[in-house]
Amino acid sequence: MHDPLDDLLVYLGESPTPYHAVEAAARRLGKAGFIRLSEAAAWSPLAPGRYYITPGGSSLLAWIVPDAAPTGFRIVGAHTDSPNLRLKPKAEYAKEGYDQLGVEVYGGVLLNSWFDLDLGLAGRLLVRGADGKTAPRLVEIRRPLLRIPRLAIHLDREVNEKGFLVHRQDHMAPILGMASDGARGLRALVAEAADVEPADVIGQDLMLFDVNPPTLGGRDRELIFSARLDNLAMCHAAIAALVAYAGDAATRDVIPVAALFDHEEVGSESAYGAASGFLPRALERIATARGGTRDDYLRTLAGSICVSADMAHAVHPNYDGKHEPRHKPELNAGPVIKVNAQQRYATSGATAAMFSELCREVVIPVQHYAHRTDLPCGSTIGPITSTQLGIRTVDVGNPMLSMHSAREMSGAKDPAMMTRVMQAFYGARDPEAT
Ligand code: ZN
Repeated sequence: MHDPLDDLLVYLGESPTPYHAVEAAARRLGKAGFIRLSEAAAWSPLAPGRYYITPGGSSLLAWIVPDAAPTGFRIVGAHTDSPNLRLKPKAEYAKEGYDQLGVEVYGGVLLNSWFDLDLGLAGRLLVRGADGKTAPRLVEIRRPLLRIPRLAIHLDREVNEKGFLVHRQDHMAPILGMASDGARGLRALVAEAADVEPADVIGQDLMLFDVNPPTLGGRDRELIFSARLDNLAMCHAAIAALVAYAGDAATRDVIPVAALFDHEEVGSESAYGAASGFLPRALERIATARGGTRDDYLRTLAGSICVSADMAHAVHPNYDGKHEPRHKPELNAGPVIKVNAQQRYATSGATAAMFSELCREVVIPVQHYAHRTDLPCGSTIGPITSTQLGIRTVDVGNPMLSMHSAREMSGAKDPAMMTRVMQAFYGARDPEAT
């Protein structure tokens, strides 16, 4: 068995897009005996066991049906998407002797972090098969294919004093190469990478990624330097914890669920985002798949708890004034509970207490975060799923720096602690049950 930290680095590297993140999670679940179901198939009756679905190819729901009648769900939610740059449908054009690609900014990208990186291209193609049917196919060009060059300082003398201002339409288009007659077009490039005929590629979702691999850093390798830590680090923890918990699941009376959603970074409103009907629909089918009624499902919801896991802001030593006093999470000091009175985080006193008690039981430290009152607070899938389902939720995450940069950083000791407490949560009794 892989060292869990090594496995996290592998997962981060093999998941340049949400589609890849879901397939990489599915591979881990498959190895642990989870069975892939189709949403279009009948699930009833569903024997006790391990299952997952991958709605849209970029969201994933995995769960275990116990032997006993369930009294509640224990849901760990996270998101598979990260801010990045995505190709427009008619992306290719030539300008000043270069071939370039038109890109759209996806989510809250720290735009300046994407300049001067060696960028690859990855995503999903829709390919017409010999039978005339369309099938999705993952594709990845993992080499320095593209680059968004910075302007030389000699042409922008005040950039360091006045700031690096980026115009998202004019300045972000990457260079694909030098324009020349007969050069391979984008469709030929991605078709070759996917090993299909260019004419059979009838659709695509393609995005840029930094080809620099995830690595441990710092004096004693106590740090992680990687793209997409927000929020693949939490996706990995949710899956690793579910696999670790699976051996105990049959004998408990709760249904553990790992819910990984696409489109959190753009508001979660999509067919398979956290605000869609797919989670409540799937949970109802799971609760009723062994003969339960809708009332049984609603009673199961009443006994349910959700941990919304999304990365948290560690204190930045060069900008410590940006943090609320007494709420400055440190790297490698344990999971962070996030609280916001405006409900940008879904944590309540009761759910914070539940999570702190779990940390105490598994003997790991816990930290607390609140945003400065004079800064608008970000949000997570926590308030959305909590509102959709009407279930108690706690927002937590591991601390990190450079959130939404093309290359982020976090602590190397925190992933194991988060995985440990999630594992305990999956089998936890309801602390408020009467
Ligand atoms: Zn996030």
